[in-house]
Amino acid sequence: MTINILHLYPKEMNLYGDHGNILALTRRLEWRGHKTNVIHYEPGMEIPKDVDIIFGGGGQDSGQGKIEKDLKKIAKVLKEKIEAGVPTLLICGLYQLMGKYFETAEGQRIEGTGVLDLYTKAGPTRLIGNIVIDSEVFGEVVGYENHSGLTYLGEGLKPFGEVKIGDGNNDKDSGEGVRYKNCIGTYLHGPILPKNPKVTDFLIKTALKNKGESIDLRPLDDAVENKAHKVAASRPR
Ligand code: GLN
Repeated sequence: MTINILHLYPKEMNLYGDHGNILALTRRLEWRGHKTNVIHYEPGMEIPKDVDIIFGGGGQDSGQGKIEKDLKKIAKVLKEKIEAGVPTLLICGLYQLMGKYFETAEGQRIEGTGVLDLYTKAGPTRLIGNIVIDSEVFGEVVGYENHSGLTYLGEGLKPFGEVKIGDGNNDKDSGEGVRYKNCIGTYLHGPILPKNPKVTDFLIKTALKNKGESIDLRPLDDAVENKAHKVAASRPR
């Protein structure tokens, strides 16, 4: 079985090891005997019909500005796919832009797709450091955050987890990220997936389930991944 992974804007949106998420997805699929096909989506391209997993990374404000126009063009297709339950992982910059908008510290508004009912405004300081959250579904999730944006979720949207160490979405509540259908939006760089294999396997299982395949994943030896997780969780902020 070939799993098609759509990597959105790998040139403009790829910070703090985000690309490692693609490696974690492809390796863990290949170790289970599946083939992978990574589509590196660049502005101006068409989104193929068969997409099994969507991934989008973070970016500087300038990178977000560069993709704004193109993102608008593909917003409808992305909405259809996310609404249809395609497993999706969005980090920081693209998490923000899958919402309504990101307003920079200079007051410039970068329009998002509006697929997720949330908006982001730059706060007075950058929020930087290791972060530990508690997720209802995945338990402890660790990563690294570096953003100026403060994100506010619309009513009815649930955060990805609750912040235990670090800042997360905003200055008003302890939420981090968002979960909507099979889409996860989060501020966790690091990259998140190699250190949190449960999240990787959720994306993989959901992709296989959507294709009518068995979701009985062969267990892997996660000793290295678990060690990386533990070290990240124990690092002082
Ligand atoms: N430019 C955005 C912010 O600072 C996103 C940063 C990121 O993707 N790390 O909030």
